[in-house]
Amino acid sequence: MIRKKILVTGGAGFVGSHLCERLLNEGNEVYCLDNFFTGQKQNIVHLLNNPYFELIRHDVINPYLIEVDEIYNLACPASPIHYQYNPIKTIKTSVMGAINMLGLAKRVKAKILQASTSEVYGNPLVHPQPECYWGNVNPIGERSCYDEGKRAAETLFMDYHKQNNVKIKIVRIFNTYGPRMHPNDGRVVSNFIVQALKNEDITVYGEGQQTRSFQYVDDLVEGMIKMMDSLDSFIGPINIGNPDEFTILELAEKVIKLTDSKSKIIYKPLPSDDPMMRKPDIALAKKELDWSPNVKLEEGLIKTIEYFKTII
Ligand code: NAD
Ligand code: UDP
Repeated sequence: MIRKKILVTGGAGFVGSHLCERLLNEGNEVYCLDNFFTGQKQNIVHLLNNPYFELIRHDVINPYLIEVDEIYNLACPASPIHYQYNPIKTIKTSVMGAINMLGLAKRVKAKILQASTSEVYGNPLVHPQPECYWGNVNPIGERSCYDEGKRAAETLFMDYHKQNNVKIKIVRIFNTYGPRMHPNDGRVVSNFIVQALKNEDITVYGEGQQTRSFQYVDDLVEGMIKMMDSLDSFIGPINIGNPDEFTILELAEKVIKLTDSKSKIIYKPLPSDDPMMRKPDIALAKKELDWSPNVKLEEGLIKTIEYFKTII
């Protein structure tokens, strides 16, 4: 067996911790780098005794040198309330983090995968969104620090590939949920589950008619690893998401039902630039990676609810 050395930036976060765990289980040596802005030790504490796991406290806006074979670049807050808390830091993390990690990949000849996002499509005018769609993004709005940061990171990945032959992979991740989301994360699935379990009001923004397509974290991790392991000539960008689309109101009703909650739905103002719809076109992932999601929303919600019951 070949034990690869793999760096996961943002490895103590929600997605990163699942990815580190899976890569370790597959027999690799994993270096988890994080500044703990939104990540938590709790997410990776069960991995700390593994001799093939190493935790590095570091901020990706500063260069870092390590000999590795592969890099998964996930470092970046993903929840709107967290990435809007310090927007300048958010765009620095995406752009300078990408430059530093690409520089590292170039120097040590590692293959590098970027955790990009469906937010590169902004408030889309094409539905569902294929990878060839260039998006509809406000460059100066509340979400721009994240959306434009991730778009610039994609540009940097492409240019390091074209100019310096760095082996890159770009994955556009659609809304993902599951155990280890922070209870105060602020994203819709964790908010609704926490509110429902506490029998508090469920806060639907706007009229709840905006749609999202929710992917369970295990499906995402599978897709990311398949992408990393695909032929070097296939660089993406590639959508990884679950095309089953729901309105936010439907999600609220499902969560209330599955938690048997007494919560009532209340309506709050819709944040600015909140995309009205989002659904991935995953034809490319099916064709190139033979990947499609396996976990239905209800099944994933049940697992996530079980997790939140243990922590609140
Ligand atoms: P998360 O906030 O749980 O994880 C992000 C991790 O990055 C945290 O551990 C945080 O502490 C760390 N981090 C942030 N800034 C850093 C910095 N400057 N230096 C080092 N570490 C830093 O979010 P997540 O949902 O796990 O998202 C992981 C990645 O996937 C992000 O890049 C995000 O943009 C992308 N993504 C996630 C989703 C989703 O629905 N979960 C959707 C699209 C894209
Ligand atoms: N949302 C909501 N109530 C909440 C949190 C979010 O109605 O308590 C809505 C939000 O306005 C958006 C959708 O749910 O339309 C998804 O929000 P999230 O922050 O999870 O991710 P986004 O896809 O917007 O980045």
